[in-house]
Amino acid sequence: MNGELSINLTGNLKEKPQDDKLGFGTIFTDHMFVMDYEKGKGWHNQRIEPYGPFSLAPSNMTLHYGQAIFEGMKAYKTIDGKVKIFRPRDYLSRMNRSAERLCIPFIDVDYVLEALRKLVSIEKDWVPASEGTSLYIRPFIFATDPYLGVRPSHTYRFAIILSPVGAYYPEGFKPVKIWVESKYVRAVKGGTGTAKTAGNYAASILAAEEAKEKGYTQVLWLDGVERKYIEEVGTMNIFFKIDDKVITPALQGSILGGMTRDSVLRLTKEWGMDVREQEITIQEVFEAHEKGKLQEIFGTGTAAVISPVSSLNWAGNIINLNGGEAGETSLKLYDEITGIQYGKLPDKFEWMVEVE
Ligand SMILES: *Cc1c(COP(=O)(O)O)cnc(C)c1O
Repeated sequence: MNGELSINLTGNLKEKPQDDKLGFGTIFTDHMFVMDYEKGKGWHNQRIEPYGPFSLAPSNMTLHYGQAIFEGMKAYKTIDGKVKIFRPRDYLSRMNRSAERLCIPFIDVDYVLEALRKLVSIEKDWVPASEGTSLYIRPFIFATDPYLGVRPSHTYRFAIILSPVGAYYPEGFKPVKIWVESKYVRAVKGGTGTAKTAGNYAASILAAEEAKEKGYTQVLWLDGVERKYIEEVGTMNIFFKIDDKVITPALQGSILGGMTRDSVLRLTKEWGMDVREQEITIQEVFEAHEKGKLQEIFGTGTAAVISPVSSLNWAGNIINLNGGEAGETSLKLYDEITGIQYGKLPDKFEWMVEVE
């Protein structure tokens, strides 16, 4: 990294929304962090500046070939009035793993973490304080060469934008219905499924739209070869509690390794539960349900933290669980993780990083 971080603050601050009017990803704070990359020069021109549009050439490579990655993490106002970010170093390290797959230059995690802390500290009045609310942090990198040929770009832009987000469960911890996708696939081994890249989402939209038309919130993806092994949900990893065992698909080369997934694995192991990362087929889940051994299903992701699943539809075969209520492990995990995030419970894994 060469040069100083330049800070240019706007005098024209936006009005902050009320906590109960916050949705997800529609409101952005006054400032953003930006830096640029040029081959031979590295990352440079790092700056905090007013949030505003970028100017792009119509031939910008990202618009044509999608060489772009992103992250999603959160900052919280803790009960003692501090602002803390959940596992920022781990999210930024994952960004470098995505970068490697997409031929995007690495970022200096330590430097970017310091810049992020500075940015969030400047915007600390934007961190909402009501229960369940947070400041969503979206770092992203995209190619900027104006060029219509397929090769890695020689120039990139990295930016971090911030968005105050409302409670995910304003009416209480509510389970969702999931469509098991047998027609479309998300990723195959050797593809880009393990990277948080824009194209994975572009490829998922049609399946999600069709599931929504049928009354389901998200899709559960099966493996791309046999449509047999369970992979993950649209924006979440998936867990099953079967016969008192907590099972999640192993990371075998097509699943995104979620930070929330990792947090759940660490907590359930610490609680002494029987936890397994292994292959699991959709057939096994339905058989376990028939035998009365399927106790819970839940998704894990930064936005919802824990999302209990009340219903699965696999080609017309339907599972309904727990009378539509969340299971005990889902609830316990949600309370524990959000308890750590809001500073109500001890941060025994040192997940929270204070701003300033
Ligand atoms: C981001 C993401 C997840 C969840 O990861 P977290 O780090 O827990 O937010 C799961 N699957 C996909 C495809 C994702 O992009």
